[in-house]
Amino acid sequence: MALVNESEKTRTQSVFGLAAEMGHEQVVFCHDEPTGLRAIIAIHNTVLGPALGGTRMWPYASEEEALIDVLRLSRGMTYKAAISGLNLGGGKAVIIGDPDKLKNEAFMRRFGRFVDSLGGRYITAEDVNMKTRDMEYIHMETDYVTGIPQSMGGSGDPSPVTAYGVYMGMKAAAKFVFGTDSLANRKVAVQGVGQVGMYLVQHLVKEGATVFITDINQDKLQKVASETGAKVVAPDEIYDLDVDIYAPCALGATLNDDTIPRLKASIVAGGANNQLKDEHKHGYMLIDRGITYAPDFLINAGGLINVGAEYYGPYNSDKAHADAEKIYDTTLEILNMASEEGINTQEAAMKIAEHRIAAIGRIKLPY
Ligand code: NAD
Repeated sequence: MALVNESEKTRTQSVFGLAAEMGHEQVVFCHDEPTGLRAIIAIHNTVLGPALGGTRMWPYASEEEALIDVLRLSRGMTYKAAISGLNLGGGKAVIIGDPDKLKNEAFMRRFGRFVDSLGGRYITAEDVNMKTRDMEYIHMETDYVTGIPQSMGGSGDPSPVTAYGVYMGMKAAAKFVFGTDSLANRKVAVQGVGQVGMYLVQHLVKEGATVFITDINQDKLQKVASETGAKVVAPDEIYDLDVDIYAPCALGATLNDDTIPRLKASIVAGGANNQLKDEHKHGYMLIDRGITYAPDFLINAGGLINVGAEYYGPYNSDKAHADAEKIYDTTLEILNMASEEGINTQEAAMKIAEHRIAAIGRIKLPY
């Protein structure tokens, strides 16, 4: 399976060409005229189990942009499940359009029927612009959905478990770099105090870290600052702070040519997906700057661990947290392996994930 690089975005290729290059099994285009639904479901790899990954709704500028997004995201889910020891494959769905204009009961239920038509090869969950209510509508048409409310027997919001896993991964990186995993008196910069960032800040403050926070949403920012005592900085200031750890918890691609030279942190460990704009180039650029990177898909896997626990059930929040705690050991293992082999940590994590998929694939011999 190839690494992601920037040129991928600009290449115009056939669907089969892209799927072959990224190693996808199945790409499903879903269209429904009456509701205006246009969705793509991508199943990347089901060697370890059914493909689980959220549905994202976005007003993509083009169909190609939506396709590239779903292909990249679904492949990321394969790695995330594999590295986390889950018996799940990688999949994802994108719905094209403006959620405020298009989403309604019929729209979401129609999407649920498409998910159901795949017979369990793909299991959906919440992602950007999807709400718990949408999952409820999808659930009216299929059992292949996770992240439904606790009142309906589901696991609810996965963010607390995601944040806990990020916290564990950050502590492991601290152990690797500083020789101790204590974050007391460490300075941590958290970019984005949404669902994941907010819970992460709570863990950090509780342990005695000095936390700097930023967000483009002033209301959230002020609320988290007043609840936790974290110090507020402007969005663009976050990269220049003299801190020990930078925790990206907002958008992807914040580790790039412009930002990496500005970082003074020794560790990058956060919850955002796809933090490295170019996995290869920027992974090595971090090494050159002496910065240890805790791979995003590894340390933010708590949410997947949580919805996976719901799918295989019966759901138990304590067990999900205990499983997310294992992110600490896996992170340490990967940081050590990367350093011994002289490769970047993202590549080391991908290598271990690919090894597990290959090994488990081999035991599933045909009768
Ligand atoms: P969220 O939407 O609740 O929070 C994101 C926050 O980032 C928002 O408060 C937003 O205002 C802020 N933000 C956006 N652009 C910003 C910028 N340029 N500078 C500063 N702040 C900015 O989302 P979330 O659920 O907390 O997820 C955060 C990240 O973690 C995303 O990348 C998501 O894909 C990833 N993630 C989330 C989960 C989960 O369980 N929620 C699981 C795995 C990965």
